[in-house]
Amino acid sequence: MRDVARPAALDARRRARDLDRLVAEGVDVLVVGGGVTGAGVALDAAARGLSVALCERVDLAAGTSRWSSKLVHGGLRYLAQREIGLARHSARERAVLMGVTAPHLVGRLPFLVPDVAGRDVSALAGLGGRLGDAVRLSVPGGRRSLPGTGRIGPEGVSRLVPGVRPGRGGVVFWDGQLVDDARLVVSLARTAAAFGAGVLTGVTVTGVDGGAVALTVDGGSTTVRAGVVVNATGAWAQRLAPGVRLVLSRGSHLVVPAARLGAPTAALTVPLPGSRTRFVVALPQPGGLVHLGITDEPVAGPASEDDPVPSDAEVAQLLATVNRVLARPLDRSDVVGAYAGLRPLAQSAPAGDGPGGAPVDLSRRPLLAWDGPVLTVVGGKLTTYRSTAAQAVDAVVTRLGRGAVRSPTARLPLVGAAPGRALARVDAAARLVRRYGTEATVVAGLGEEPVVDGRSETVGELRFAVRAEGARTVDDLLDRRTRIGLVPTDRERAAPLAAAVLAAES
Ligand SMILES: Cc1cc2nc3c(=O)[nH]c(=O)nc-3n(C[C@H](O)[C@H](O)[C@H](O)COP(=O)(O)OP(=O)(O)OC[C@H]3O[C@@H](n4cnc5c(N)ncnc54)[C@H](O)[C@@H]3O)c2cc1C
Repeated sequence: MRDVARPAALDARRRARDLDRLVAEGVDVLVVGGGVTGAGVALDAAARGLSVALCERVDLAAGTSRWSSKLVHGGLRYLAQREIGLARHSARERAVLMGVTAPHLVGRLPFLVPDVAGRDVSALAGLGGRLGDAVRLSVPGGRRSLPGTGRIGPEGVSRLVPGVRPGRGGVVFWDGQLVDDARLVVSLARTAAAFGAGVLTGVTVTGVDGGAVALTVDGGSTTVRAGVVVNATGAWAQRLAPGVRLVLSRGSHLVVPAARLGAPTAALTVPLPGSRTRFVVALPQPGGLVHLGITDEPVAGPASEDDPVPSDAEVAQLLATVNRVLARPLDRSDVVGAYAGLRPLAQSAPAGDGPGGAPVDLSRRPLLAWDGPVLTVVGGKLTTYRSTAAQAVDAVVTRLGRGAVRSPTARLPLVGAAPGRALARVDAAARLVRRYGTEATVVAGLGEEPVVDGRSETVGELRFAVRAEGARTVDDLLDRRTRIGLVPTDRERAAPLAAAVLAAES
Protein backbone atom coordinates (compact mmCIF):
# COMPACT_ATOMS: atom_id res chain seq x y z
CA MET A 1 0.00 0.00 0.00
CA ARG A 2 1.31 3.46 -0.89
CA ASP A 3 1.40 6.27 1.66
CA VAL A 4 -0.82 9.28 1.10
CA ALA A 5 1.51 12.24 0.56
CA ARG A 6 -1.02 15.02 1.20
CA PRO A 7 -4.56 15.87 0.14
CA ALA A 8 -4.62 16.14 -3.63
CA ALA A 9 -5.74 19.36 -5.28
CA LEU A 10 -7.99 18.47 -8.18
CA ASP A 11 -7.55 21.48 -10.45
CA ALA A 12 -7.39 22.15 -14.19
CA ARG A 13 -3.62 21.56 -14.35
CA ARG A 14 -3.85 18.20 -12.68
CA ARG A 15 -6.75 17.14 -14.93
CA ALA A 16 -4.68 17.95 -18.06
CA ARG A 17 -1.66 16.09 -16.68
CA ASP A 18 -3.71 13.01 -15.68
CA LEU A 19 -5.38 12.94 -19.09
CA ASP A 20 -2.03 13.10 -20.93
CA ARG A 21 -0.68 10.32 -18.75
CA LEU A 22 -3.73 8.13 -19.34
CA VAL A 23 -3.43 8.52 -23.11
CA ALA A 24 0.35 7.93 -23.11
CA GLU A 25 0.64 5.10 -20.60
CA GLY A 26 -2.80 3.54 -20.05
CA VAL A 27 -3.75 2.15 -16.64
CA ASP A 28 -4.28 -1.09 -14.77
CA VAL A 29 -7.85 -0.10 -13.89
CA LEU A 30 -10.11 2.37 -15.66
CA VAL A 31 -13.18 3.12 -13.57
CA VAL A 32 -16.22 4.48 -15.40
CA GLY A 33 -18.60 6.61 -13.31
CA GLY A 34 -17.79 9.15 -10.61
CA GLY A 35 -20.54 8.27 -8.12
CA VAL A 36 -19.91 6.74 -4.73
CA THR A 37 -19.30 3.29 -6.24
CA GLY A 38 -16.77 4.45 -8.85
CA ALA A 39 -14.97 6.80 -6.48
CA GLY A 40 -14.85 4.03 -3.85
CA VAL A 41 -13.41 1.55 -6.37
CA ALA A 42 -10.83 4.10 -7.56
CA LEU A 43 -9.68 4.70 -3.98
CA ASP A 44 -9.50 1.01 -3.10
CA ALA A 45 -7.55 0.14 -6.27
CA ALA A 46 -5.14 3.10 -5.97
CA ALA A 47 -4.53 2.38 -2.29
CA ARG A 48 -3.57 -1.20 -3.23
CA GLY A 49 -0.92 0.20 -5.57
CA LEU A 50 -2.68 -0.23 -8.94
CA SER A 51 -2.56 2.55 -11.55
CA VAL A 52 -6.06 3.97 -11.83
CA ALA A 53 -8.08 6.48 -13.83
CA LEU A 54 -11.63 7.46 -12.85
CA CYS A 55 -13.61 8.74 -15.86
CA GLU A 56 -16.89 10.57 -15.22
CA ARG A 57 -18.91 12.06 -18.03
CA VAL A 58 -20.25 15.08 -16.10
CA ASP A 59 -18.91 15.70 -12.61
CA LEU A 60 -18.29 13.85 -9.36
CA ALA A 61 -21.65 12.84 -7.85
CA ALA A 62 -23.55 13.87 -10.96
CA GLY A 63 -25.83 10.80 -10.77
CA THR A 64 -27.83 9.02 -8.07
CA SER A 65 -25.18 9.56 -5.40
CA ARG A 66 -26.33 13.15 -4.84
CA TRP A 67 -30.03 12.32 -4.85
CA SER A 68 -30.00 9.91 -1.90
CA SER A 69 -31.69 10.38 1.49
CA LYS A 70 -28.16 10.94 2.88
CA LEU A 71 -28.58 8.26 5.51
CA VAL A 72 -25.87 5.93 6.69
CA HIS A 73 -28.16 3.05 7.54
CA GLY A 74 -27.75 0.40 10.16
CA GLY A 75 -30.01 -1.88 8.12
CA LEU A 76 -33.32 -1.70 10.05
CA ARG A 77 -35.15 -2.47 6.83
CA TYR A 78 -33.12 -5.63 6.38
CA LEU A 79 -34.08 -6.71 9.89
CA ALA A 80 -37.75 -6.32 8.98
CA GLN A 81 -37.03 -8.73 6.11
CA ARG A 82 -35.11 -11.07 8.47
CA GLU A 83 -31.85 -10.45 6.60
CA ILE A 84 -29.66 -10.41 9.71
CA GLY A 85 -26.44 -10.83 7.73
CA LEU A 86 -27.18 -7.78 5.58
CA ALA A 87 -28.13 -5.75 8.64
CA ARG A 88 -24.85 -6.60 10.39
CA HIS A 89 -22.95 -5.74 7.24
CA SER A 90 -24.65 -2.31 7.07
CA ALA A 91 -24.09 -1.69 10.77
CA ARG A 92 -20.41 -2.59 10.42
CA GLU A 93 -19.93 -0.23 7.49
CA ARG A 94 -21.81 2.53 9.34
CA ALA A 95 -19.38 2.15 12.25
CA VAL A 96 -16.39 2.34 9.87
CA LEU A 97 -17.72 5.55 8.28
CA MET A 98 -18.55 7.16 11.61
CA GLY A 99 -15.41 6.05 13.40
CA VAL A 100 -12.62 6.07 10.80
CA THR A 101 -13.40 6.98 7.23
CA ALA A 102 -15.42 10.16 7.55
CA PRO A 103 -16.37 11.07 11.13
CA HIS A 104 -16.72 14.72 10.05
CA LEU A 105 -19.28 13.91 7.34
CA VAL A 106 -21.51 11.50 9.29
CA GLY A 107 -23.55 12.63 12.29
CA ARG A 108 -26.04 10.95 14.63
CA LEU A 109 -29.70 11.44 13.80
CA PRO A 110 -32.64 10.55 16.06
CA PHE A 111 -35.73 9.17 14.28
CA LEU A 112 -39.06 9.92 15.91
CA VAL A 113 -42.04 7.64 15.32
CA PRO A 114 -44.89 9.49 17.06
CA ASP A 115 -47.81 7.64 18.63
CA VAL A 116 -50.17 9.87 16.67
CA ALA A 117 -49.10 7.84 13.62
CA GLY A 118 -50.63 4.77 15.34
CA ARG A 119 -49.59 3.08 18.57
CA ASP A 120 -49.07 -0.23 16.75
CA VAL A 121 -46.65 1.51 14.38
CA SER A 122 -44.56 3.11 17.12
CA ALA A 123 -44.55 -0.17 19.09
CA LEU A 124 -43.22 -2.01 16.03
CA ALA A 125 -40.62 0.73 15.49
CA GLY A 126 -39.51 0.30 19.11
CA LEU A 127 -39.08 -3.42 18.59
CA GLY A 128 -37.16 -2.90 15.34
CA GLY A 129 -35.01 -0.21 16.95
CA ARG A 130 -34.05 -2.50 19.83
CA LEU A 131 -33.14 -5.29 17.40
CA GLY A 132 -31.06 -2.74 15.50
CA ASP A 133 -29.32 -1.81 18.75
CA ALA A 134 -28.47 -5.46 19.37
CA VAL A 135 -26.99 -5.74 15.89
CA ARG A 136 -25.04 -2.51 16.40
CA LEU A 137 -23.58 -3.78 19.68
CA SER A 138 -22.41 -6.94 17.90
CA VAL A 139 -20.17 -5.15 15.36
CA PRO A 140 -16.73 -3.62 15.95
CA GLY A 141 -16.98 0.07 16.84
CA GLY A 142 -20.78 -0.12 17.13
CA ARG A 143 -21.09 0.28 20.90
CA ARG A 144 -20.17 3.94 21.16
CA SER A 145 -21.41 5.02 17.74
CA LEU A 146 -25.08 5.70 18.63
CA PRO A 147 -27.47 5.97 21.60
CA GLY A 148 -30.07 3.26 22.17
CA THR A 149 -33.76 3.13 21.23
CA GLY A 150 -36.27 4.41 23.78
CA ARG A 151 -39.77 5.77 24.44
CA ILE A 152 -40.34 9.48 25.04
CA GLY A 153 -43.30 11.39 26.42
CA PRO A 154 -45.41 14.13 24.81
CA GLU A 155 -42.93 16.89 25.85
CA GLY A 156 -40.07 14.94 24.23
CA VAL A 157 -42.06 14.66 20.98
CA SER A 158 -42.79 18.41 20.98
CA ARG A 159 -39.14 19.19 21.67
CA LEU A 160 -37.80 17.01 18.83
CA VAL A 161 -40.42 17.86 16.20
CA PRO A 162 -42.55 20.79 17.40
CA GLY A 163 -44.83 20.53 14.33
CA VAL A 164 -46.30 17.15 15.38
CA ARG A 165 -49.86 17.16 16.80
CA PRO A 166 -49.28 17.52 20.55
CA GLY A 167 -50.41 15.34 23.43
CA ARG A 168 -48.92 11.90 22.69
CA GLY A 169 -45.51 10.27 23.14
CA GLY A 170 -43.44 8.25 20.70
CA VAL A 171 -40.42 6.07 20.03
CA VAL A 172 -36.93 7.31 19.16
CA PHE A 173 -34.26 5.21 17.47
CA TRP A 174 -30.93 6.39 16.03
CA ASP A 175 -29.04 6.11 12.77
CA GLY A 176 -26.27 7.88 10.84
CA GLN A 177 -26.76 10.89 8.55
CA LEU A 178 -24.36 12.35 5.99
CA VAL A 179 -24.05 16.12 6.01
CA ASP A 180 -24.09 15.86 2.21
CA ASP A 181 -23.87 12.75 0.01
CA ALA A 182 -22.00 14.61 -2.78
CA ARG A 183 -19.28 15.59 -0.30
CA LEU A 184 -18.61 11.94 0.47
CA VAL A 185 -18.03 11.30 -3.23
CA VAL A 186 -15.73 14.32 -3.64
CA SER A 187 -13.75 13.27 -0.56
CA LEU A 188 -13.37 9.72 -1.89
CA ALA A 189 -12.17 11.00 -5.26
CA ARG A 190 -9.64 13.37 -3.70
CA THR A 191 -8.34 10.64 -1.42
CA ALA A 192 -8.00 8.36 -4.45
CA ALA A 193 -6.09 11.16 -6.21
CA ALA A 194 -3.76 11.43 -3.21
CA PHE A 195 -2.88 7.76 -3.85
CA GLY A 196 -2.12 8.62 -7.50
CA ALA A 197 -5.46 7.96 -9.22
CA GLY A 198 -6.33 10.21 -12.17
CA VAL A 199 -9.72 11.84 -11.57
CA LEU A 200 -11.12 12.91 -14.92
CA THR A 201 -14.51 14.59 -15.04
CA GLY A 202 -16.03 15.60 -18.37
CA VAL A 203 -14.80 12.31 -19.89
CA THR A 204 -17.36 9.87 -21.31
CA VAL A 205 -16.52 6.25 -21.97
CA THR A 206 -18.27 5.29 -25.20
CA GLY A 207 -17.10 1.71 -25.67
CA VAL A 208 -14.68 -1.03 -24.67
CA ASP A 209 -13.06 -3.36 -27.18
CA GLY A 210 -10.67 -5.80 -25.53
CA GLY A 211 -8.19 -3.61 -23.62
CA ALA A 212 -8.99 -0.53 -25.75
CA VAL A 213 -11.33 1.99 -24.17
CA ALA A 214 -12.94 4.69 -26.34
CA LEU A 215 -13.42 8.09 -24.69
CA THR A 216 -14.90 11.42 -25.65
CA VAL A 217 -13.26 14.33 -23.93
CA ASP A 218 -13.35 18.08 -24.44
CA GLY A 219 -15.13 17.75 -27.80
CA GLY A 220 -12.75 15.12 -29.21
CA SER A 221 -12.38 11.37 -29.02
CA THR A 222 -9.48 9.11 -28.20
CA THR A 223 -8.64 5.54 -27.23
CA VAL A 224 -6.68 4.45 -24.17
CA ARG A 225 -5.43 1.10 -22.83
CA ALA A 226 -6.68 -0.47 -19.61
CA GLY A 227 -6.02 -3.86 -18.02
CA VAL A 228 -9.54 -3.92 -16.59
CA VAL A 229 -12.54 -1.61 -16.91
CA VAL A 230 -14.88 -1.22 -13.93
CA ASN A 231 -18.33 -0.14 -15.07
CA ALA A 232 -19.75 1.83 -12.11
CA THR A 233 -22.29 3.81 -14.10
CA GLY A 234 -25.31 2.97 -11.93
CA ALA A 235 -28.64 3.44 -13.70
CA TRP A 236 -26.75 3.79 -17.01
CA ALA A 237 -24.77 0.53 -16.61
CA GLN A 238 -26.43 -1.27 -19.51
CA ARG A 239 -24.83 1.07 -22.03
CA LEU A 240 -21.44 -0.54 -21.37
CA ALA A 241 -22.85 -3.91 -20.29
CA PRO A 242 -25.92 -4.74 -22.39
CA GLY A 243 -26.06 -8.20 -20.78
CA VAL A 244 -26.85 -6.78 -17.33
CA ARG A 245 -30.59 -6.60 -16.64
CA LEU A 246 -31.73 -3.54 -14.72
CA VAL A 247 -35.15 -2.45 -13.53
CA LEU A 248 -35.33 1.24 -12.61
CA SER A 249 -37.35 2.88 -9.89
CA ARG A 250 -37.52 6.56 -8.94
CA GLY A 251 -37.15 7.84 -5.39
CA SER A 252 -38.20 11.45 -4.81
CA HIS A 253 -37.76 14.05 -2.08
CA LEU A 254 -39.31 17.47 -1.47
CA VAL A 255 -37.42 20.37 0.12
CA VAL A 256 -39.36 22.44 2.65
CA PRO A 257 -38.32 25.14 5.15
CA ALA A 258 -37.58 23.52 8.52
CA ALA A 259 -39.56 26.32 10.20
CA ARG A 260 -42.77 24.80 8.82
CA LEU A 261 -42.24 21.76 11.06
CA GLY A 262 -41.00 23.89 13.96
CA ALA A 263 -37.26 23.45 13.17
CA PRO A 264 -37.11 19.72 14.02
CA THR A 265 -33.97 18.10 15.42
CA ALA A 266 -35.17 14.56 14.69
CA ALA A 267 -36.29 12.77 11.55
CA LEU A 268 -40.08 12.52 11.65
CA THR A 269 -41.07 9.05 10.53
CA VAL A 270 -44.64 8.41 9.32
CA PRO A 271 -45.92 5.18 7.75
CA LEU A 272 -47.58 5.26 4.36
CA PRO A 273 -51.34 4.82 4.79
CA GLY A 274 -52.08 1.12 5.16
CA SER A 275 -48.43 0.14 5.78
CA ARG A 276 -46.47 -0.53 8.95
CA THR A 277 -43.12 -0.98 7.26
CA ARG A 278 -42.94 1.68 4.49
CA PHE A 279 -42.34 5.22 5.71
CA VAL A 280 -42.12 8.83 4.64
CA VAL A 281 -39.40 10.61 6.59
CA ALA A 282 -38.93 14.35 7.12
CA LEU A 283 -35.15 14.65 7.43
CA PRO A 284 -33.64 17.79 9.03
CA GLN A 285 -30.85 19.22 6.86
CA PRO A 286 -28.22 21.90 7.38
CA GLY A 287 -29.27 25.42 6.48
CA GLY A 288 -32.80 25.41 7.90
CA LEU A 289 -34.30 22.90 5.48
CA VAL A 290 -36.08 19.57 5.72
CA HIS A 291 -36.03 16.91 2.99
CA LEU A 292 -39.21 14.91 2.78
CA GLY A 293 -38.86 11.50 1.16
CA ILE A 294 -39.05 8.93 -0.22
CA THR A 295 -41.12 7.37 -2.95
CA ASP A 296 -40.64 4.22 -5.02
CA GLU A 297 -42.06 4.60 -8.52
CA PRO A 298 -41.35 2.15 -11.35
CA VAL A 299 -39.68 3.86 -14.32
CA ALA A 300 -39.58 2.53 -17.86
CA GLY A 301 -35.93 2.22 -18.95
CA PRO A 302 -33.47 3.07 -20.30
CA ALA A 303 -32.37 5.91 -17.98
CA SER A 304 -32.37 9.31 -19.64
CA GLU A 305 -29.35 11.64 -19.38
CA ASP A 306 -31.56 14.32 -17.81
CA ASP A 307 -32.03 14.50 -14.06
CA PRO A 308 -35.24 12.69 -13.05
CA VAL A 309 -38.02 14.78 -11.48
CA PRO A 310 -40.73 13.85 -8.99
CA SER A 311 -44.19 13.33 -10.50
CA ASP A 312 -47.27 15.17 -9.33
CA ALA A 313 -48.53 11.99 -7.69
CA GLU A 314 -45.30 11.56 -5.71
CA VAL A 315 -45.51 15.15 -4.44
CA ALA A 316 -49.11 14.50 -3.34
CA GLN A 317 -48.18 11.21 -1.65
CA LEU A 318 -45.30 12.70 0.34
CA LEU A 319 -47.33 15.67 1.57
CA ALA A 320 -50.43 13.62 2.41
CA THR A 321 -48.40 11.08 4.40
CA VAL A 322 -46.51 13.54 6.59
CA ASN A 323 -49.66 15.63 7.07
CA ARG A 324 -51.23 12.69 8.93
CA VAL A 325 -49.28 13.70 12.02
CA LEU A 326 -48.71 17.46 11.65
CA ALA A 327 -50.69 20.04 13.59
CA ARG A 328 -50.50 22.43 10.63
CA PRO A 329 -50.50 20.51 7.35
CA LEU A 330 -47.99 21.31 4.60
CA ASP A 331 -49.23 22.23 1.15
CA ARG A 332 -47.57 22.70 -2.22
CA SER A 333 -46.78 26.35 -1.52
CA ASP A 334 -44.42 25.14 1.26
CA VAL A 335 -42.29 23.19 -1.22
CA VAL A 336 -39.17 25.21 -2.14
CA GLY A 337 -37.40 22.46 -4.08
CA ALA A 338 -37.66 18.83 -5.17
CA TYR A 339 -35.33 16.14 -6.45
CA ALA A 340 -35.36 12.53 -7.53
CA GLY A 341 -32.88 9.70 -8.14
CA LEU A 342 -33.02 6.40 -9.96
CA ARG A 343 -32.50 3.07 -8.19
CA PRO A 344 -31.07 0.48 -10.52
CA LEU A 345 -32.39 -2.88 -9.36
CA ALA A 346 -30.11 -5.54 -10.79
CA GLN A 347 -31.54 -8.86 -11.85
CA SER A 348 -29.37 -11.92 -12.23
CA ALA A 349 -32.05 -13.85 -14.09
CA PRO A 350 -34.90 -12.83 -16.39
CA ALA A 351 -37.90 -11.35 -14.58
CA GLY A 352 -40.21 -14.19 -13.75
CA ASP A 353 -37.50 -16.64 -12.70
CA GLY A 354 -37.91 -15.88 -9.01
CA PRO A 355 -40.08 -17.79 -6.56
CA GLY A 356 -43.68 -17.73 -7.72
CA GLY A 357 -42.67 -16.11 -11.00
CA ALA A 358 -41.67 -12.85 -9.30
CA PRO A 359 -38.72 -10.85 -10.60
CA VAL A 360 -35.42 -11.85 -9.00
CA ASP A 361 -34.52 -8.67 -7.15
CA LEU A 362 -30.91 -8.40 -6.06
CA SER A 363 -31.17 -4.70 -5.27
CA ARG A 364 -30.11 -5.17 -1.66
CA ARG A 365 -26.86 -6.76 -2.71
CA PRO A 366 -24.62 -5.21 -5.35
CA LEU A 367 -24.29 -7.14 -8.58
CA LEU A 368 -20.75 -7.83 -9.77
CA ALA A 369 -20.60 -9.27 -13.28
CA TRP A 370 -17.70 -9.76 -15.71
CA ASP A 371 -18.09 -9.41 -19.45
CA GLY A 372 -14.63 -9.74 -21.06
CA PRO A 373 -12.39 -7.10 -19.43
CA VAL A 374 -15.41 -5.17 -18.06
CA LEU A 375 -16.51 -5.70 -14.47
CA THR A 376 -19.94 -4.16 -13.89
CA VAL A 377 -20.69 -3.13 -10.28
CA VAL A 378 -24.25 -1.97 -9.77
CA GLY A 379 -26.82 -1.77 -6.98
CA GLY A 380 -25.92 -1.71 -3.33
CA LYS A 381 -26.08 1.31 -1.05
CA LEU A 382 -24.16 4.44 -0.32
CA THR A 383 -23.66 3.14 3.24
CA THR A 384 -21.90 0.02 2.01
CA TYR A 385 -19.90 1.57 -0.86
CA ARG A 386 -16.60 0.64 0.83
CA SER A 387 -17.21 -3.08 1.05
CA THR A 388 -18.71 -3.12 -2.46
CA ALA A 389 -15.55 -1.42 -3.73
CA ALA A 390 -13.32 -3.85 -1.82
CA GLN A 391 -15.19 -6.81 -3.31
CA ALA A 392 -14.86 -5.35 -6.80
CA VAL A 393 -11.13 -4.68 -6.43
CA ASP A 394 -10.58 -8.19 -5.02
CA ALA A 395 -12.01 -9.45 -8.32
CA VAL A 396 -9.86 -6.98 -10.28
CA VAL A 397 -6.55 -7.97 -8.64
CA THR A 398 -7.35 -11.63 -9.23
CA ARG A 399 -8.08 -10.90 -12.89
CA LEU A 400 -4.86 -8.88 -13.24
CA GLY A 401 -2.88 -11.60 -11.43
CA ARG A 402 -1.56 -9.14 -8.85
CA GLY A 403 -1.62 -11.49 -5.86
CA ALA A 404 -3.69 -11.05 -2.77
CA VAL A 405 -3.20 -7.48 -1.53
CA ARG A 406 -6.02 -6.89 0.94
CA SER A 407 -8.19 -3.79 0.89
CA PRO A 408 -6.79 -1.20 3.32
CA THR A 409 -9.81 1.12 3.21
CA ALA A 410 -11.44 0.12 6.52
CA ARG A 411 -8.52 1.82 8.26
CA LEU A 412 -8.09 4.70 5.81
CA PRO A 413 -9.44 8.15 6.75
CA LEU A 414 -10.62 10.26 3.80
CA VAL A 415 -9.18 13.75 3.25
CA GLY A 416 -10.29 16.00 6.09
CA ALA A 417 -11.23 13.08 8.37
CA ALA A 418 -10.03 12.92 11.97
CA PRO A 419 -11.32 11.53 15.27
CA GLY A 420 -14.01 13.61 17.01
CA ARG A 421 -11.60 15.10 19.54
CA ALA A 422 -9.28 16.36 16.82
CA LEU A 423 -12.21 17.78 14.85
CA ALA A 424 -13.37 19.66 17.95
CA ARG A 425 -10.00 21.46 17.99
CA VAL A 426 -10.18 22.69 14.38
CA ASP A 427 -10.28 26.47 14.53
CA ALA A 428 -13.18 27.15 12.14
CA ALA A 429 -16.98 27.42 12.15
CA ALA A 430 -18.64 24.12 13.14
CA ARG A 431 -20.56 24.10 9.84
CA LEU A 432 -17.32 24.16 7.86
CA VAL A 433 -15.76 21.47 10.06
CA ARG A 434 -18.73 19.19 9.38
CA ARG A 435 -18.24 19.62 5.62
CA TYR A 436 -14.44 19.89 5.30
CA GLY A 437 -13.09 18.36 8.51
CA THR A 438 -9.47 19.35 9.15
CA GLU A 439 -9.44 21.35 5.91
CA ALA A 440 -12.06 23.77 7.27
CA THR A 441 -9.43 26.34 8.26
CA VAL A 442 -8.17 26.47 4.66
CA VAL A 443 -11.71 26.98 3.37
CA ALA A 444 -12.39 29.67 5.99
CA GLY A 445 -9.19 31.46 4.95
CA LEU A 446 -10.47 31.73 1.37
CA GLY A 447 -13.37 34.02 2.30
CA GLU A 448 -16.24 33.93 4.76
CA GLU A 449 -18.76 36.17 2.97
CA PRO A 450 -22.04 34.39 2.18
CA VAL A 451 -22.71 33.38 -1.42
CA VAL A 452 -26.37 34.34 -0.98
CA ASP A 453 -27.76 36.56 1.77
CA GLY A 454 -29.55 34.45 4.36
CA ARG A 455 -27.70 31.23 3.49
CA SER A 456 -24.59 29.85 5.15
CA GLU A 457 -22.43 28.81 2.15
CA THR A 458 -19.35 31.00 1.77
CA VAL A 459 -17.33 32.37 -1.13
CA GLY A 460 -14.37 30.45 0.34
CA GLU A 461 -16.23 27.20 -0.36
CA LEU A 462 -16.63 28.14 -4.02
CA ARG A 463 -12.94 29.08 -4.31
CA PHE A 464 -11.84 25.86 -2.59
CA ALA A 465 -14.09 23.86 -4.92
CA VAL A 466 -12.29 25.25 -7.99
CA ARG A 467 -8.79 25.12 -6.51
CA ALA A 468 -8.93 21.71 -4.86
CA GLU A 469 -12.15 19.82 -5.61
CA GLY A 470 -12.27 19.63 -9.40
CA ALA A 471 -15.22 22.03 -9.93
CA ARG A 472 -15.20 23.21 -13.55
CA THR A 473 -18.64 24.75 -14.07
CA VAL A 474 -21.29 26.81 -12.26
CA ASP A 475 -23.38 23.63 -12.01
CA ASP A 476 -20.49 21.83 -10.28
CA LEU A 477 -20.29 24.67 -7.75
CA LEU A 478 -23.99 25.07 -7.02
CA ASP A 479 -25.30 21.52 -7.46
CA ARG A 480 -22.45 19.31 -6.24
CA ARG A 481 -19.75 21.13 -4.19
CA THR A 482 -22.45 23.12 -2.44
CA ARG A 483 -26.14 22.18 -2.54
CA ILE A 484 -27.52 25.66 -3.07
CA GLY A 485 -29.15 24.34 -6.24
CA LEU A 486 -31.65 22.30 -4.22
CA VAL A 487 -33.60 25.55 -3.80
CA PRO A 488 -33.97 26.93 -7.35
CA THR A 489 -34.66 30.54 -6.28
CA ASP A 490 -31.45 30.58 -4.21
CA ARG A 491 -29.60 28.99 -7.10
CA GLU A 492 -30.64 31.82 -9.38
CA ARG A 493 -29.34 34.37 -6.90
CA ALA A 494 -26.03 32.52 -6.47
CA ALA A 495 -25.25 31.91 -10.14
CA PRO A 496 -23.60 35.28 -11.00
CA LEU A 497 -21.18 35.06 -8.06
CA ALA A 498 -20.40 31.42 -8.84
CA ALA A 499 -19.61 32.39 -12.43
CA ALA A 500 -17.37 35.22 -11.23
CA VAL A 501 -15.45 32.93 -8.84
CA LEU A 502 -15.03 30.37 -11.60
CA ALA A 503 -13.65 32.99 -14.00
CA ALA A 504 -11.28 34.39 -11.40
CA GLU A 505 -9.97 31.02 -10.19
CA SER A 506 -9.77 29.06 -13.46
C1 LIG B 1 -33.81 8.12 -4.05
C2 LIG B 1 -32.70 7.31 -3.46
C3 LIG B 1 -32.37 7.45 -2.11
C4 LIG B 1 -31.31 6.72 -1.57
N1 LIG B 1 -30.97 6.89 -0.26
C5 LIG B 1 -29.94 6.21 0.26
C6 LIG B 1 -29.55 6.43 1.60
O1 LIG B 1 -30.12 7.26 2.32
N2 LIG B 1 -28.49 5.72 2.08
C7 LIG B 1 -27.83 4.81 1.32
O2 LIG B 1 -26.92 4.18 1.84
N3 LIG B 1 -28.15 4.60 0.02
C8 LIG B 1 -29.18 5.29 -0.53
N4 LIG B 1 -29.53 5.11 -1.84
C9 LIG B 1 -28.69 4.27 -2.67
C10 LIG B 1 -27.46 5.06 -3.16
O3 LIG B 1 -27.78 6.39 -3.42
C11 LIG B 1 -26.90 4.41 -4.41
O4 LIG B 1 -26.63 3.05 -4.13
C12 LIG B 1 -25.60 5.04 -4.87
O5 LIG B 1 -25.65 6.44 -4.90
C13 LIG B 1 -25.25 4.52 -6.25
O6 LIG B 1 -24.04 5.10 -6.63
P1 LIG B 1 -23.34 4.72 -7.98
O7 LIG B 1 -21.98 5.32 -7.94
O8 LIG B 1 -23.41 3.26 -8.21
O9 LIG B 1 -24.22 5.39 -9.12
P2 LIG B 1 -24.31 6.93 -9.53
O10 LIG B 1 -24.16 7.82 -8.38
O11 LIG B 1 -25.52 7.10 -10.37
O12 LIG B 1 -23.01 7.15 -10.42
C14 LIG B 1 -22.94 6.73 -11.76
C15 LIG B 1 -22.12 7.79 -12.51
O13 LIG B 1 -21.75 7.29 -13.77
C16 LIG B 1 -21.69 8.38 -14.67
N5 LIG B 1 -21.71 7.82 -16.02
C17 LIG B 1 -22.74 7.17 -16.61
N6 LIG B 1 -22.37 6.75 -17.83
C18 LIG B 1 -21.08 7.12 -18.02
C19 LIG B 1 -20.15 6.95 -19.09
N7 LIG B 1 -20.45 6.27 -20.20
N8 LIG B 1 -18.89 7.51 -18.97
C20 LIG B 1 -18.55 8.17 -17.84
N9 LIG B 1 -19.42 8.35 -16.79
C21 LIG B 1 -20.66 7.82 -16.88
C22 LIG B 1 -22.89 9.21 -14.28
O14 LIG B 1 -22.78 10.56 -14.72
C23 LIG B 1 -22.89 9.08 -12.76
O15 LIG B 1 -22.20 10.15 -12.13
C24 LIG B 1 -30.58 5.82 -2.40
C25 LIG B 1 -30.94 5.67 -3.74
C26 LIG B 1 -31.97 6.42 -4.27
C27 LIG B 1 -32.31 6.26 -5.71
